[in-house]
Amino acid sequence: MDYSELVEVYEKIEGTSKRLLKTYYISELLKKTSVEDLEIIMLLLQGKIFPAWDETKIGMSDKLILKAINKATGADAKKIESEWKKIGDLGKVTYNLTHTKSQATLFSSKLTIKKVFDNIRKLATLTGEGTVDKKVSLVSELMTSASPSEAKYIVRTVLEELRVGVGESSLRDAIVWAYFGEEIGVKYDFEKNDIMLDDEKREKYKDIVDTTQRAFDLTNEFSEVAKAAKTVGITGLLDMKLLPGKPIKVMLCQKVASVEEGFETVGTPAQIEYKYDGFRMQIHKIDNKINIYTRRLENVTAQFPEVAATVSKHVKGEEFLIDGEAVGFDPSTSKYLPFQSVSQRIRRKYDIEETAKDLPIELNLFDILYHDGKDYSEVPLNERREFLEKIVEQVKRKIVIAKVDYTDNVEEARRFYEEALKAGNEGIIMKRHDSVYKPGSRVGGWVKIKPVMESLDVVIVGAEWGEGKRSGWLTSFTIGVLDESGLPVEIGKVGTGIKELDQTELEGEGVTFEVLTNLLKPLIISEKGKEVKVKPKIVIEVHYEEIQKSPTYSSGYALRFPRLTRLRADRGVDDASTLDLVEEFYFAQRGRGN
Ligand code: AMP
Repeated sequence: MDYSELVEVYEKIEGTSKRLLKTYYISELLKKTSVEDLEIIMLLLQGKIFPAWDETKIGMSDKLILKAINKATGADAKKIESEWKKIGDLGKVTYNLTHTKSQATLFSSKLTIKKVFDNIRKLATLTGEGTVDKKVSLVSELMTSASPSEAKYIVRTVLEELRVGVGESSLRDAIVWAYFGEEIGVKYDFEKNDIMLDDEKREKYKDIVDTTQRAFDLTNEFSEVAKAAKTVGITGLLDMKLLPGKPIKVMLCQKVASVEEGFETVGTPAQIEYKYDGFRMQIHKIDNKINIYTRRLENVTAQFPEVAATVSKHVKGEEFLIDGEAVGFDPSTSKYLPFQSVSQRIRRKYDIEETAKDLPIELNLFDILYHDGKDYSEVPLNERREFLEKIVEQVKRKIVIAKVDYTDNVEEARRFYEEALKAGNEGIIMKRHDSVYKPGSRVGGWVKIKPVMESLDVVIVGAEWGEGKRSGWLTSFTIGVLDESGLPVEIGKVGTGIKELDQTELEGEGVTFEVLTNLLKPLIISEKGKEVKVKPKIVIEVHYEEIQKSPTYSSGYALRFPRLTRLRADRGVDDASTLDLVEEFYFAQRGRGN
């Protein structure tokens, strides 16, 4: 397939905020995509070259991309960089450069999606002498054959910032519409931004959407799902299996305000567990090797060698996938430490053994998804737990199974909640006792209860350079939540809750301006006066007093008195809170009479 066909779809998707239209454009593209091209198309639509579970990085620095653009267009690298700072989108800058410059070499041959994909993929494999020149050539070769629009998306793909706003649900629905749409008789109402189906067909449609979602959840790869749907049909999707070795998205939960509400959602009796204040660890064993992933699917095995050794020694089985929370504790008092203190271990690349001694981890396991050839994801939760208890040899302060209580009694549940808080935990998680494991889902029968209702995980999208004693630091951080296509929309600015001290004086607690500045500086994409825009990568937790409607911010809402409570080093932009959640909180607080 020609790259221009994909670019045409990128432009259409970027040009509308309507999810229905985005999905429709993608489904039409899928209909004409051959089986051979499907893998590439599904990845490129997500702005990816490697699937989410693959840790390979494209690894093209900003400097090299500027060089490649310079080589292809002849424009001065300094000028390109200053335009980039002004506009904030290097793809657009490249478009402008190639658009205005009628260069003879441009458009010399037609680009195919395969050529674009292969060249960018090669960037990741190059090492050794001459790498820099080879990388620059691979990208500039693409650009000299590209139209201005094609060049724009090539640059954005190399930068891993496609920004067209395609969410996972759009890709899933596009697969359904492309391969089952005709059979079900899906009709579109573009005005209403919805599809039209009678009740009977709607049921069937929902079933197919759920099956497609499940196939994706278990494999975490849209290419495979699309291929199975196109070549085999529904049975192909039903046959897709969970396999250890490839990280999948973990199951999540929604917030409820009380144990009563918890029972209403998950039913009785509920399986109630401590909500540990650590970070998620998804642990795989395959080929005699343990691999540990965060909830963002980052491989952190090297940072936690002692956890890998403990799992290897104390969990029975040749192949498995288990799920739990790693919590730090103070080795002298044995008291749990807040997430903030152990989070440094996630990024640690040196002195790992030493840090492991200073900041030991207790692994609290609470789920199992696979064990020696058997997929446990559809086995009821209480049975999964029973099995987990059989295969894990618990060792105090090293590897334990999450503290649990089964009850249908509100008073008992409240007591368990109090006990959890007293023991230094964040709260409790109430789980439907017979629920299946729904990877990546927030609505599968797990709910959390924490004392503070008013907190959101927001992503930093901008900041301001400080003045006076704060000069040299970024202050006043513009924060955003995710709209329905997964792009950040602004919801306010936060400047409180951040410390002025040197981080070393803080002993791991709290976040300083210095730390945030160091994290954000490399992410700056444009500057105007004191204001900077940054790549949305850093996620923080904020507390606030109230959510208000506001025309000032692009989300349509503003947080009143937001305060940074912690840095979420274990979260990526995809984990940030959604606009839907903000709306839900907004209406909930109105319901409370605020
Ligand atoms: P939140 O981060 O507030 O959305 O809460 C969900 C997170 O709580 C999960 O991703 C886990 O990292 C963590 N957690 C702690 N204890 C448990 C537990 N017993 N069951 C499930 N998740 C837990």
